[in-house]
Amino acid sequence: MKKAGITIKDLHLSFGPTEVLKGVNLDIKPGEFFAFLGPSGSGKSTLLRSIAGFGPRPKGSILIGGKDVVALDPWKRNVGMVFQSYALWPHMSVRDNVAFGLRERRIPAADIATKVQEGLELVGLAHLADRMPNQLSGGQQQRVALARTVVTEPEVLLLDEPLSNLDASLRVQMRRELLRLQRKLGLTTIFVTHDQEEANTTSDRMAVLDGGVIQQIGTPQELYDTPANLFVANFLGTAN
Ligand code: ADP
Ligand code: MG
Repeated sequence: MKKAGITIKDLHLSFGPTEVLKGVNLDIKPGEFFAFLGPSGSGKSTLLRSIAGFGPRPKGSILIGGKDVVALDPWKRNVGMVFQSYALWPHMSVRDNVAFGLRERRIPAADIATKVQEGLELVGLAHLADRMPNQLSGGQQQRVALARTVVTEPEVLLLDEPLSNLDASLRVQMRRELLRLQRKLGLTTIFVTHDQEEANTTSDRMAVLDGGVIQQIGTPQELYDTPANLFVANFLGTAN
């Protein structure tokens, strides 16, 4: 699968008079598993959505694979996004949910069938292709949402708190599965979470956000060993 790096330069975004992203700079390597970690309201979703192309157009630049996408519509960006609520179509089978994005791209039916099968195998759900979403557990629905995104072969996978609707033990299991899948596909991935353990156990590197500003970027180890400021230290629980 193709994978692209992401470079963000001096990104600003306001809702009306309120500035929510206040000059974000970021460099994510191709194939990296990168986490945005921060408290509720810190701007994680807004930053992720602006990479995907949803919401108001920010100032600054967002390069995906070296190309500035800031003025492009979402479907021209080669990104796939999975949301906190899985948002499967309730009236469509698992198979049709996964096929939906491919049909929109006018891919031949035989190729769609193959891709859907591969996508469902990837998340271990090929045997449930004919089920309806309401006949699946939360974890299974989230796997379908992931398969649905991955089959479109994005260069970048964006995940906004994808596990936070699951109960604690399932969350840990899904976290491992997500990481396994990401490693297997080598997909550049941004994982948004307010849960530091989740960021820690999955990410190659992470950015800690507060108040629309990146407080620190580094590997989990680096952030724990040498937090840049009191906010990071407190948030990661390393302050004395
Ligand atoms: P997080 O995902 O880290 O919880 P968000 O990116 O959702 O944070 O929100 C960051 C800030 O932007 C919050 O103060 C939130 O109230 C505000 N915000 C988010 N979306 C909108 C919107 N559509 N209109 C106005 N304010 C918004
Ligand atoms: Mg959010």
